[in-house]
Amino acid sequence: MKILLAGPRGFCAGVNMAIETLETAIRLYGTPIYVFHEIVHNKHVVDRFEREGAVFVNAVDEVPEGATLLFSAHGVAPEVRRVANERRLRAIDATCPLVTKVHLEAIRYAKQNYHIFLIGHEGHDEVIGTMGQAPGAFTLVETAEDVAALPFGPEDKLAYLTQTTLSVDDASRIINALKDRFPQLVGPPKDDICYATQNRQEAVRRLSQEAQLVLVLGSQNSSNSQRLAELAREQGVPAHLIDGADEIDPAWFTGSETVVITAGASAPERVVQDCVAWLQQRFGTTATGVTVEERTVREEDVYFPLPKEIRSAAAAVQLPMG
Ligand code: SF4
Repeated sequence: MKILLAGPRGFCAGVNMAIETLETAIRLYGTPIYVFHEIVHNKHVVDRFEREGAVFVNAVDEVPEGATLLFSAHGVAPEVRRVANERRLRAIDATCPLVTKVHLEAIRYAKQNYHIFLIGHEGHDEVIGTMGQAPGAFTLVETAEDVAALPFGPEDKLAYLTQTTLSVDDASRIINALKDRFPQLVGPPKDDICYATQNRQEAVRRLSQEAQLVLVLGSQNSSNSQRLAELAREQGVPAHLIDGADEIDPAWFTGSETVVITAGASAPERVVQDCVAWLQQRFGTTATGVTVEERTVREEDVYFPLPKEIRSAAAAVQLPMG
């Protein structure tokens, strides 16, 4: 068996920043520390921080007055910030800067009286946060089929934005359908799908052509991980989205000589290496054994600094930073 380890895979700059922010906040302020929604959509990351004393909440009124509250990488609506302020919480904002960029675009369009189509998935934390930037100015569009039923006409001022973790192909189908129906539609100069989502999709697109099976490490509620598994299936290659090696079914590998392993932007590298070790243990005893090849289709060198409120608090007590 040959394992192709897709590169880039796993943590993106936004996830690294959010995780490091929470680690630093725990060192600075101790626990319990409250986090609005999952810090990132990954079971291993959330379980680890829960063990360390983080408390994940879905509403600000679950947080005791005066406590510390961290906003997750997916971003929040201004209303959440307002309530946090009213409850005198010490708020730390770990929103990914690429999500903040979409928020700013939303505010700009809403100020110019555009109605905004947000291409995204209903109920996702990022979608809720983005639509909250301009309540009433948004319509969520989930598929190209939704476009025909939109109750707008040629006289309406219309714009679109996208969730950062969409399938590049699906998003472009929906944008094209919107442009066909509404030629007056305006949008950002470059779509909002982030570099990490695009690069991980590109790696799966290329490498799945050489494989009979794709394993995606990531949690079921991770949008970008789901898209990686879907993309492999669209290429005609069976794919499984799993949280770790304990979910592997040995029957998947019948007839698979080459297996691609990748990981969503919130999945730790440790779970990838656990899967490799599992496969080596299971199939490494055959005559041909298991070979592992790193295949990087695009280099990444993106880094986001920690939020300034954390940097200044750390500097004030001379806390050494990693
Ligand atoms: S997936 Fe993209 S938008 Fe989301 S946290 Fe990572 S870099 Fe930011």
